[in-house]
Amino acid sequence: MFPANIEQYVRPQSVAEALAACAGYDAGEAMFIAGGQSLMQAMKSRMARPRCLIDLQAISELKGICPDEGAFHIGAMTRYVSIANDERLTGYFAALRDAAQHVGDRQVRNRGTIGGSCCWNYVASCLPAVVMGLGGEMKLQAADGSQRSVAAEDFLIAPLETARADDEMLLAIRIPQPAGRGGSAYKKWGLVKDALPVVGVCVAVTLDSNDRCATARVTLAGLSAGAHRATAAEQALVGTAGDAAAIAQAFDAAANAADAQGDKWADVAYRQNLIRTLGQEVATSAFARAAGRQE
Ligand SMILES: Cc1cc2nc3c(=O)[nH]c(=O)nc-3n(C[C@H](O)[C@H](O)[C@H](O)COP(=O)(O)OP(=O)(O)OC[C@H]3O[C@@H](n4cnc5c(N)ncnc54)[C@H](O)[C@@H]3O)c2cc1C
Repeated sequence: MFPANIEQYVRPQSVAEALAACAGYDAGEAMFIAGGQSLMQAMKSRMARPRCLIDLQAISELKGICPDEGAFHIGAMTRYVSIANDERLTGYFAALRDAAQHVGDRQVRNRGTIGGSCCWNYVASCLPAVVMGLGGEMKLQAADGSQRSVAAEDFLIAPLETARADDEMLLAIRIPQPAGRGGSAYKKWGLVKDALPVVGVCVAVTLDSNDRCATARVTLAGLSAGAHRATAAEQALVGTAGDAAAIAQAFDAAANAADAQGDKWADVAYRQNLIRTLGQEVATSAFARAAGRQE
């Protein structure tokens, strides 16, 4: 399988240059390429047929993880390997590392980017669920230089659909630091180790002064709705001490409320059980991290 003819390939050095390269093309005809781990497959199958490819690899302003008043600013071109190896991402931010450490294989982690993953928003991808779970904000720039921030929940509309306009580039993702002590965790189950998730669960909690859950955000990956919040579990966790019984009840509620699909990888009951078992494991870690008992 070969891509359709690509008329122009550019490798700009700056965001402004990259956005300027879209000029003269109709919507969707000029595409950014980040790690190429999804787009190359889409081009080979001719699901995507860009006339112009704008390679973002040389743009240093899109790369890196910077602390930002307690929050973290993660450039769109930051590769999974950089997130996986960043030891500052602990506590409330730990789910980012959990996810990045197990995306695909080593080659995918060395090439794929957090921005590419969120802009592609594949039905069964890990980082969109984590970015939504941590309350991330997506920073975008349009061709006219204007910028806007969109909450991850509003950005990640549905599988392969985001709020990004064709002439907008994702610059970065800001993961805010919530008030109070926070902890998060992510885990997926795939058919083979490090495969795309059949189900993935992200939990982010904050604790009050009595070590009770003040806020909870739970997101699921791998279901046909794509990354989305499991509000039944969130409501059940708030106010609890994160004990095993409370967590089991919360993820039972999430499993029962989930619109889980049956397909060749897993039937509905199996996916519901994955929500229960992964949820138990991940929520236990998130509480332990918030309380400082686990890295
Ligand atoms: C073998 C294999 C296993 C995988 N396993 C997993 C897994 O376990 N978990 C998981 O989550 N994912 C997995 N993936 C998918 C992987 O995460 C991809 O890397 C990711 O989906 C796309 O990121 P990318 O940087 O390669 O983006 P690309 O493929 O280059 O681009 C994807 C899309 O995003 C757009 N885009 C990229 N960057 C920007 C930007 N800054 N602004 C605007 N638009 C942009 C592109 O135009 C394109 O439409 C796997 C992929 C492979 C090949």
